[in-house]
Amino acid sequence: MGDASATSSDRDGVTEEMLACVRASGLKMTPQRMAIVRELAGDPTHPTAQELFERLRPALPTMSFATVYNTLDALAAAGLCASLSLAPGPSRFDPNMRPHHHAVCDRCGLVRDVACALSEEEAPANPVTEGNPPGFQIRAVELIYRGLCAECAQQAIEGVTPPRSRRSASGTENG
Ligand SMILES: [Zn+2]
Ligand SMILES: [Zn+2]
Repeated sequence: MGDASATSSDRDGVTEEMLACVRASGLKMTPQRMAIVRELAGDPTHPTAQELFERLRPALPTMSFATVYNTLDALAAAGLCASLSLAPGPSRFDPNMRPHHHAVCDRCGLVRDVACALSEEEAPANPVTEGNPPGFQIRAVELIYRGLCAECAQQAIEGVTPPRSRRSASGTENG
């Protein structure tokens, strides 16, 4: 614990970094907060505070939603996770702080990371895209791909196929 050797995986690194941040931000490090940090650090699904709360509640029945939200808020304020508003509804939290894009499902709200073409080292300090606002210092360019996830796309296909059994039941109600 506290040893900053770089032998562990990325995820462990993220977890450790976040835990250090929570300590540094003056929040008391409780088993609840540690569980929140660990859950978020290992989660690529961009969960909402509510989702994390519900996932952790069975193991931590005394934990309040405010504890979850405040911990996530502190992490976001410290730049250790991102608070995303990709769709209407509550913010989603992203432990991946490398430049990347997102794909968002219109139907179920699923969020997936989309890798940037450029790696972190290759990314220009001031990326220039067409139509840059004049004089605007670009920090990052983030794209949102909108559409349907694999599951919802499949359901949409099934949805437009008319069910065979209902063929004759349009209109006439006799009996
Ligand atoms: Zn979907
Ligand atoms: Zn992401």
